[in-house]
Amino acid sequence: MGRVYRADLHIHTCLSPCGSLDMSPRAIVREAKKKGIEIIAICDHNSAENVLPAQKIGEVEGVTVLAGMEVASQEEVHILTLFDTAEGVNRLQEIVYEHLLPGENDEDTFGPQVVVNEEDEVVGMNTRLLIGATELSINTLVDTALKLGSVVIASHVDRESFSLLGHLGFIPDDVRLHALEISPHTTREQAKATFPQISGYPLVTFSDAHSLEDIGKTSTCFFLEEPTLREIAMALRGEKGRGIVY
Ligand SMILES: [Zn+2]
Ligand SMILES: [Zn+2]
Repeated sequence: MGRVYRADLHIHTCLSPCGSLDMSPRAIVREAKKKGIEIIAICDHNSAENVLPAQKIGEVEGVTVLAGMEVASQEEVHILTLFDTAEGVNRLQEIVYEHLLPGENDEDTFGPQVVVNEEDEVVGMNTRLLIGATELSINTLVDTALKLGSVVIASHVDRESFSLLGHLGFIPDDVRLHALEISPHTTREQAKATFPQISGYPLVTFSDAHSLEDIGKTSTCFFLEEPTLREIAMALRGEKGRGIVY
């Protein structure tokens, strides 16, 4: 009894220094709902402190909110890690925090890192240096996330900066990725023509929204029994009738 669900699984909040200040969890969930996106994931840079409020609002609004984080590896490659629960992503966050580069965020240079609650009230500023790389290699990061139960997707592989292909020029065989994300700047077809090495992987496309108007600009449709991470993992593997709908 499955059906098609539209998903945008790469959305930044006001916790990301580069995220617009109006990207509060409440505003994001409502914008997604307005645009008919039923599954979203909050994926801030190297932190997941705005995930829980977004999930609470999602429950009220009827939007599934996955608990994500976009972690920057030592090689400055961005990796999307997706969990069902805030507890799951918080376990990875602990490890990421232990491996952040030293120093504090410079708000004037990078922007503020605002932590909010489900009422959209500011509860604090994250002062860690979230914008930079971590000291986790791609392999360590992916293996650690997988062990914690994450779905792992390499971000915007077609981009020159902060991507697997941009930094390494290839997709390492020993990095166990569920899928590759194509940025909104190109299409899956164009990306496959430019980078033939990505053809063997499931390809997804999400908005990487840093502002409200960008939410859902690009999205991926999945055929699922229910809107859960487990089902999405099955869809990425093409199991039991689940799949990506192109
Ligand atoms: Zn990124
Ligand atoms: Zn991003």
